[in-house]
Amino acid sequence: MPSKKPKTSSFKYLPSTNLPKLHIQETWDLKSQYYKSDQDPQIEKDIALTEATFLAFAKKWRKKAFATNVKQLAEALKESELMAGTATFSKPLRYFSLRTALNTGDTVADKQISLISRRLRKASDETLFFALNLGKLDKKSQGKLLKETALAPYRYYLNRLFAGAAHHLTEAEEKIIGLKSSQAYGRWTDMTDKIVSQRHITWKGQSIALPEAMEMINVQPFTDKEKLWQNIVVELRQISEVAEHEFNAIITDVRTEDELRGYKKPYSATALGYQDSEASLENLVAAVSNEGFKLSRDFYKAKAKYHGVATLNYSQRNESAGASVLIPFVQAVEVCRDVFYSVHTDYGQIFDEMLTRGQIDVWPKAGKTGGAFMSAQTGHPINVMLNHVTDFKSLETLAHEMGHAIHAARSAENSPFYDGHSIITAETASTLFENLVFDAVYNQADAATKTVMLHDRILRDISTIQRQIAFFNVELEIHETINRDGGMSGDELASCMQKHLTSYLGTAVHVTKDDGYSYVYVSHLRYGFYVYSYAYGLLMSNLMATHYQADTAYIAKIDQFLRAGETKLVKDIYRDIGIDITKPDTFTSALARLKADIIDWKKLIAKR
Ligand SMILES: [Zn+2]
Repeated sequence: MPSKKPKTSSFKYLPSTNLPKLHIQETWDLKSQYYKSDQDPQIEKDIALTEATFLAFAKKWRKKAFATNVKQLAEALKESELMAGTATFSKPLRYFSLRTALNTGDTVADKQISLISRRLRKASDETLFFALNLGKLDKKSQGKLLKETALAPYRYYLNRLFAGAAHHLTEAEEKIIGLKSSQAYGRWTDMTDKIVSQRHITWKGQSIALPEAMEMINVQPFTDKEKLWQNIVVELRQISEVAEHEFNAIITDVRTEDELRGYKKPYSATALGYQDSEASLENLVAAVSNEGFKLSRDFYKAKAKYHGVATLNYSQRNESAGASVLIPFVQAVEVCRDVFYSVHTDYGQIFDEMLTRGQIDVWPKAGKTGGAFMSAQTGHPINVMLNHVTDFKSLETLAHEMGHAIHAARSAENSPFYDGHSIITAETASTLFENLVFDAVYNQADAATKTVMLHDRILRDISTIQRQIAFFNVELEIHETINRDGGMSGDELASCMQKHLTSYLGTAVHVTKDDGYSYVYVSHLRYGFYVYSYAYGLLMSNLMATHYQADTAYIAKIDQFLRAGETKLVKDIYRDIGIDITKPDTFTSALARLKADIIDWKKLIAKR
């Protein structure tokens, strides 16, 4: 069972602000925020209105020459913006997908998602012509439209649309791809996810769901870690029998589609979609794979020595450097509230509202999706899902997801076209709040605790920077191999994972083929190079946290960053707050904080 009633924490934290008392609601309140139940007649009404609105838009504009008439285009864009801002359009799907996050075995919700998606896709397909017609304009006409004052609010939106249009297919082809995407991709990844979350292992006489068991590894004693992990690996090897087919299917699907759309490299579509450039992605991967991996390998050497072993097992790579700090959820909440309020009153209030209104689902449960996430959509309450256990990492996860939530709340002030984010800036915001929470706690800690905390921060940074770039390299190799050789077996997928895990962990960590089977449950490997955004975000937020530590007036820049949403390219958002990501050495110098931490930690343990 999860440690809902943890031992008294050895961790002391003195809040610097006066925190108002709260009554916390620890589960999502979907009933009052979405629908009373899956039988709520409002669901059908909302879907029907969405369908009717899309069809009316199509009927009104399909035959008009809006692409060459500025006044008409401005009007059509305004209508389109209004549709994007109508919360009830996305409410039914959002409700059912939140339900499946709470219970992956919720078959009622699964079926509804599939049925509603089909209806809404059919309706929104009717409006595909709009973007496609605009995309067909020649470069000169596009350039002219971008200069029109009447279209100024839509300039960046159009810019992105034109850039994406270069990879559009015909309307009929787009429709077919849309119709086939669920069974070519989504259903496959859902399958593995569902199998993983519904399998159980027996540990110390208790039956524990796999996602929860994986969360538990880090809180086990040193020697128990490997025992628990081996129990998990038995399941992963079995699931690999189907995950192998899943991987081959989804990678082949993506490669085929990329070829049709004329994307040159496996990650070209990702860089464009993230409002980033291939050049900065490549600079980042090169900086981390070279300088970054040297740092992590060096750290694990010192760490193995510190634990008095020649090599660490893979399952022991996150072993704490001292008595693990226990943090009950109430204390994690106290720390985060204090930090958020002291950085900016609004941030504290955003958190308090989410806590009291049932927007944060706290505890692990059988059937619940593993890990943690934040979900925001125009006009809806922001939802955060956690699987809280009582370690420091869970505090950081809370800070991380709340960073996303605060970013979403700040950006919600933009037009529905611009209230989202590139995943890169999203991961910057989330890890920035992790950093701020860490620094606040660290500043209050005694010397012994600091040694442990510094070590843990290094581990966190490595698992966000080096580990994610190792995953990037795994994904790239899988894409290239399946494309070249026609497929990969489960055994080969595990070997590939093993090789790249070794590349960042080095010789001081013993990585076996069994460990490579972790490819089965790392769902992020299925997200199309999504993993690089984590490394990117943390490197940027390390720079920002350093600025804030030096001068708290930097909060003005931080707030500007949080409010920017997706109003411009990633490089421009960073440029506005004084970070130039077009220079390759920005990434190398962003590793400086980690490098300094490792040197400091080695000095601290040498004194013992
Ligand atoms: Zn995140």
